[in-house]
Amino acid sequence: MEFRDLKRQYSYLKDEMDASMQKVLADANFIQGKQVAELEKALADYTEMKHCVACANGTDALQLALMAWQIGPGDAVFVPDFTFFSSGEVVSAVGAAPVFVDVDADTFNIDCALLAHMIEKTEAEGKWTPKAVVTVDLFGQPAEYEKIRLIAEKYHLLILEDAAQGFGGRIGEKRACSFGDIATTSFFPAKPLGCYGDGGAVFTDNDEWAELLKSYRVHGKGSSKYDNIRIGMNSRLDTLQAAVLLTKFPVFAKEELEREQEIAACYTEHLKDFVKTPVVRDGFYSSWAQYTIQLEDREERNGLQSCLKELGIPSAVYYQKPMHRQQAFANMSYEDTDYPVTNRLSEIVLSLPFHPYMKEEEIALVADAIKQYVSR
Ligand SMILES: *Cc1c(COP(=O)(O)O)cnc(C)c1O
Repeated sequence: MEFRDLKRQYSYLKDEMDASMQKVLADANFIQGKQVAELEKALADYTEMKHCVACANGTDALQLALMAWQIGPGDAVFVPDFTFFSSGEVVSAVGAAPVFVDVDADTFNIDCALLAHMIEKTEAEGKWTPKAVVTVDLFGQPAEYEKIRLIAEKYHLLILEDAAQGFGGRIGEKRACSFGDIATTSFFPAKPLGCYGDGGAVFTDNDEWAELLKSYRVHGKGSSKYDNIRIGMNSRLDTLQAAVLLTKFPVFAKEELEREQEIAACYTEHLKDFVKTPVVRDGFYSSWAQYTIQLEDREERNGLQSCLKELGIPSAVYYQKPMHRQQAFANMSYEDTDYPVTNRLSEIVLSLPFHPYMKEEEIALVADAIKQYVSR
């Protein structure tokens, strides 16, 4: 069994996929070919955003947003403590201070009351100026934007929505990548909408920021790539990856997301009386980047993971280490006691095999192994 079966997805899409990749090879339009603009248009339409700017990966997408906002030394950016490293890494990369915030134990997303508390604490200390919050749509479920928007308005913060895992999710009819002042996603192969290598995109309704993003993406270009008016980066999306995404996207939007809802419901039906299953809030719709259960303690989690492994069932721990405990941030002197929920989650979470091409027998096999283990 595969954790996320990309081979099965490819065999389903093979004829169309091979043709669209062949077309790029035949045209030899490898950089900024027309498929890139087509993809940007398709994703902007889907998210109902004015601009989609494709780039090289989800990490660059976040960094490009911070660069467009000129966030740097002296600024504080608030980031959930329970996330992939990139969400905080980019803040340090532009010279600003990442201030981590503990998360909600049900949704794994940023705890809004604690966000307000950390903003006030940072203001009171006076060392850094609060500028932005990176909200992460973790495991596919959008963060609580209604509350976050009120806090951002109160404290004059910009919202950077990290929807690397959230693309395809929504709240009501409003889609992920439309909640932030700028939003980003990743097309890393295992993400909800993945390409065949690295890729990413940035979304915004703001014309001025969109122009800046396009400039920073290509060496801070002015009127041409050889007219450089600011220090940028080289972060384009390959035409080949755009062609892959254009082939996958309609299937993702029409079939895969639906299928994932069914798979999640099937897992939950099997497991809800045995372990803590994922909580999706009323009116929220997850794109199920991960299906993550919670065990009693570290010993039970690690024991279950070994037991599954012996049965040939892959699983993963997202995330083993809270952000505030990462050595890369050792100079920041965070208080470990500020993060009780993340500290606990890192000991008890386990993500299960999950992808839209999973069969019911496979879900039952995984679920039965878990039931047996926890009832041992
Ligand atoms: C994957 C991921 C990223 C980074 O995306 P890359 O394309 O791998 O650079 C950023 N944030 C989160 C939450 C992610 O899961």
